[in-house]
Amino acid sequence: NHRIVLASHPDGRPVPANFRLETAPIPEPQEGELLLEILYLSLDPYMRTRMNAEGTYADAVPLGTVMLGGTVARVKQSRNPAWQEGEIVLSFSGWQRYAISDGSQLRRIDPAIAPISTALGVLGMPGFTAYVGLLDIGRPAPGETVVVAAASGAVGSAVGQIARIKGARAVGIAGGPDKCAFARDVLGFDAVVDHHAPDFAKQLARACPDGIDVYFENVGGKVLEAVKPLLNDFARIPVCGLIAEYSDAGAAASISLGDTLFKSLTVRGFIQTEFVERREAAFLQEASQWIRDGLLRYREDVVDGLEQAPQALIGMLDGKNFGKLVVRVSGD
Ligand code: NDP
Repeated sequence: NHRIVLASHPDGRPVPANFRLETAPIPEPQEGELLLEILYLSLDPYMRTRMNAEGTYADAVPLGTVMLGGTVARVKQSRNPAWQEGEIVLSFSGWQRYAISDGSQLRRIDPAIAPISTALGVLGMPGFTAYVGLLDIGRPAPGETVVVAAASGAVGSAVGQIARIKGARAVGIAGGPDKCAFARDVLGFDAVVDHHAPDFAKQLARACPDGIDVYFENVGGKVLEAVKPLLNDFARIPVCGLIAEYSDAGAAASISLGDTLFKSLTVRGFIQTEFVERREAAFLQEASQWIRDGLLRYREDVVDGLEQAPQALIGMLDGKNFGKLVVRVSGD
């Protein structure tokens, strides 16, 4: 069994030496357990926050233990009557090739709806995050302007498309011409602005002639600074992520209570797990239908081999991924 453990805590940007590849025997399932063979591992920005010595909203990964993460796996061996060998499941097995499960916390994946890797992306945690953050907190009305950064990524791509499904105007922010073209031409954003442009703030203002009614916060930092003067009275800000600040506390930007008061803003942070019990079934049903209808598109950035995971995660924090980042751990 190959697995990657957290070797040391990063100081700022993570480096490859923060991770260590280890080899161990393939574990044996006991009565009631299953052996899972990991096919795909999801890489997500939150992993950076779990690498610190101090946990934030959830526990830190202890040094020397397997890096955590969502996975799509095949049941390789089952000693639990509820699960059959060969079934494809969503699990939370982390950065390793094989894992033991007691059968709880698994979800069956239907390969007929979409490729199984989408259970980590558009039909998984990131898609769900977009759905609840936008619909339950952002609540865009038809004709309103919704702005989201990391627009070609797992969460942002779904936010923009769901906004359009609901009749709102979607303005994306992305890094570089290829991501911007993709968000506009393939995902159907009404306008897209490149945050690397020297006159980014001016371009964003031009792209939002009626101001901003919903700012879906994915990044923080200079993007938030550019958004602030454009916020309309009664704007809603689902605070989903602050990727610009995870490795660079100096980049932090904020909204003051004064801004909140005088513009009657709603600023609401959330972690998607809060909504799972109440909203996951509706999300899976609706998002699957949108995919079938061609209304919800997605792009995956697939990296081959578990040993590539550290570099891929480091790259994501610099915007090197283009689409939902997943690692193909074993061929499916
Ligand atoms: P993405 O697939 O969007 O990948 C991350 C992207 O962030 C990069 O490709 C890059 O896109 C952008 N980015 C990185 N650094 C910066 C920066 N300094 N300034 C601006 N943009 C930057 O990731 P996800 O869709 O998985 O996650 C998006 C956000 O959602 C993250 O903040 C994440 O933490 C958050 N999240 C929150 C959840 C919750 O429950 N609250 C659940 C899931 C995700 P580009 O090159 O276009 O700038």
